[in-house]
Amino acid sequence: MRTDIAIIGGGLTGLMMARALTATGADILLVDRQSAGRLSDTDSLPDERTTTINAAGMRMLQTLGVEDNLQQEATPIMRIAVAEGAALSGLAARRRPNTDLSWQASDTPMAYVVSNADLQAALTTTLAAVSDGFGSIEILSGTVLTGMARDAGSMRLDIEDAHGKRSHRLADLVVACDGNNSKVAEFANLAARQERPFQTAIVSVLQAERDHENTAFQRFLPTGPFALMPMSGQHLSLVWTLPDDDAQTLLAADDQAFEAACLDAFGQSLGYLHLAGQRLAWPLRPSIRKRITGAGVVLAGDAAHALHPVAGQGYNLALADAAVLADCLARARARGLSSGHPSIWQAYEAARRTERLAMSAATSGINQLFVRSPAFVRRMAGAGFAVLDKSPVKTVFSRIAEGGELADAALLRGKFPGTL
Ligand SMILES: Cc1cc2nc3c(=O)[nH]c(=O)nc-3n(C[C@H](O)[C@H](O)[C@H](O)COP(=O)(O)OP(=O)(O)OC[C@H]3O[C@@H](n4cnc5c(N)ncnc54)[C@H](O)[C@@H]3O)c2cc1C
Repeated sequence: MRTDIAIIGGGLTGLMMARALTATGADILLVDRQSAGRLSDTDSLPDERTTTINAAGMRMLQTLGVEDNLQQEATPIMRIAVAEGAALSGLAARRRPNTDLSWQASDTPMAYVVSNADLQAALTTTLAAVSDGFGSIEILSGTVLTGMARDAGSMRLDIEDAHGKRSHRLADLVVACDGNNSKVAEFANLAARQERPFQTAIVSVLQAERDHENTAFQRFLPTGPFALMPMSGQHLSLVWTLPDDDAQTLLAADDQAFEAACLDAFGQSLGYLHLAGQRLAWPLRPSIRKRITGAGVVLAGDAAHALHPVAGQGYNLALADAAVLADCLARARARGLSSGHPSIWQAYEAARRTERLAMSAATSGINQLFVRSPAFVRRMAGAGFAVLDKSPVKTVFSRIAEGGELADAALLRGKFPGTL
């Protein structure tokens, strides 16, 4: 059987990609290893993470009807507070502010925090009710891609279902949304360079004694960044990056020892930090690819660029991937070209280059600067934050943080694909 586009991987990127591309009227096949309704690739662990979606990404969610299907309201971020070095306490904390750099939104939020499980469910609901395109969507859950080859101008996909039954499908274009260890990228010889040092992120939910006032906090410690994203009430989503061994020690510690470690790392500006969720470990293996397209193949989301979570940009890049590819496809279809026409993947490769290379260099660079540099370099960088806080460059950074600045696409502007 033949389809316009086969999307491999039905995580947050694959589902969003399917939703964005159906708006172009293309026929879509979505193949995912997970069985329908599962929210995680790991049998025992649900995805308890949250995702910070920038203002442009949220416009895209609204335009495609995904926001309406979120069960919990997204928490707006009105302020970002960044600090360098160990948290101060007592008199020292009163003498020196605990923040080196901060951004305050004037009226509209800079970004929003959503639960991954809620977002995945909202995307699934939205896809089931797609009505704006003229195309179709077919979802094969519990199905694995086992092989891929170019065959007379089409892509041939070998797949295997949960009962071990093998078959093949043909597609004009394959869109890889199959994560960091992408099989599609491997079959298409699109190599990745993995970065060191290897770190682990501890993810959990904390409840603070004081109100977070819709602030996103980021503290750069010599061991790795400690980030708190605001959630409803006085809850905050924790992403604490540490060397693998230190993370294992903290994961094994009892709740009280873990809370004490959080307080030690973050400081006391929000009062006591109670553990309000289970602790999960996410091994971080940032990687970057020189090219993200080949004949009949494009990569998106973590398959194209697995970023360090330091600035919460990974999924925002995936949203931009989907928005840009939808524009490339819509323009080609308007000219009567097939979904496999080379102009589509060539335009996508060119349009994604600046943002993905810039974001990858920025996130890994910031992490390495604070983790690997001698103390005096870290202090200079911290002082740089304080200077930056008073400079006009800050406006440029905040525009980039809001999204849609390095990638221009109709959906990020709140319009349908292909619209100017
Ligand atoms: C701790 C942490 C915090 C983060 N916080 C943020 C944040 O605040 N903001 C932000 O923008 N980003 C954030 N990110 C990044 C974001 O979570 C990822 O970019 C995003 O989840 C990647 O989704 P994906 O769908 O591309 O990949 P994955 O989630 O890896 O999904 C891949 C999918 O492909 C399927 N698959 C794989 N191989 C095959 C195959 N052979 N056949 C069929 N199916 C297959 C899998 O089953 C899976 O469903 C964070 C990341 C981490 C680790």
